[in-house]
Amino acid sequence: MNMVKLSKVMTDEHKAEEFLREIGILKTFRKCPYCGNKQFGKVRRNFYKCYLCKREWSVRKGSILERMKTPFNKFVLALKLFELEIPVLKACEELELSYNTVHKLFMVIRVKIYKKSSEDNLLKGEVEADESYFGGKKKGKRGRGAKSKIPVFGILERKGKVKVEIVKDVKSETLLKETIRKVKRGSLIYTDKFRSYDGLVMYGFRHERIDHSKRFANEQLCCCPHPSIVISIKTTSPCF
Ligand SMILES: [Zn+2]
Repeated sequence: MNMVKLSKVMTDEHKAEEFLREIGILKTFRKCPYCGNKQFGKVRRNFYKCYLCKREWSVRKGSILERMKTPFNKFVLALKLFELEIPVLKACEELELSYNTVHKLFMVIRVKIYKKSSEDNLLKGEVEADESYFGGKKKGKRGRGAKSKIPVFGILERKGKVKVEIVKDVKSETLLKETIRKVKRGSLIYTDKFRSYDGLVMYGFRHERIDHSKRFANEQLCCCPHPSIVISIKTTSPCF
């Protein structure tokens, strides 16, 4: 945001609120967060009320500003000062706010940026997950008999990115932890019938099991966008 836009937004609390909604700091409500009813309206400054369940909620609900009272225009200015890397002490003077308040504002901005960049990096949509082993001449079973081999866990976003990680084992806990770190909740994850994938649904993913031998026998069904990368990672299956 440049200074001209900032000056326009700064002069009006309502414009500042709209601006914060535009950039995703404040949530856009399309239904009541309590009962899901779509009929609601603004009842008093910064509060909505559901016409069905009669409950009220703040326009700040679910945002990083939920527990803060800082006016929206001051928060917009704080964003600009943060962007310009102005130290907290100097920002206190500019904003006419206490050190603790500005420190907290800068912290919530940092957290928001971190969360946003983490979310952008997550795989999403339709995702395939599979584990395999590197090294060792012995052909071992999964988990057992694979002691001389290095377990590798790969996740592929269809028509998207591939993430591959060496893991300490292929136990359920390890694979679930890796999946949570790398895949957006709500995504549809395809795996084979390996038991370590049990529990994906409990963590907010959609889960479908496929039979690799049948599925990948049909080339049209294999959606690997980077077969060369994938095959070099896993030689026992066309995917990963
Ligand atoms: Zn309601």
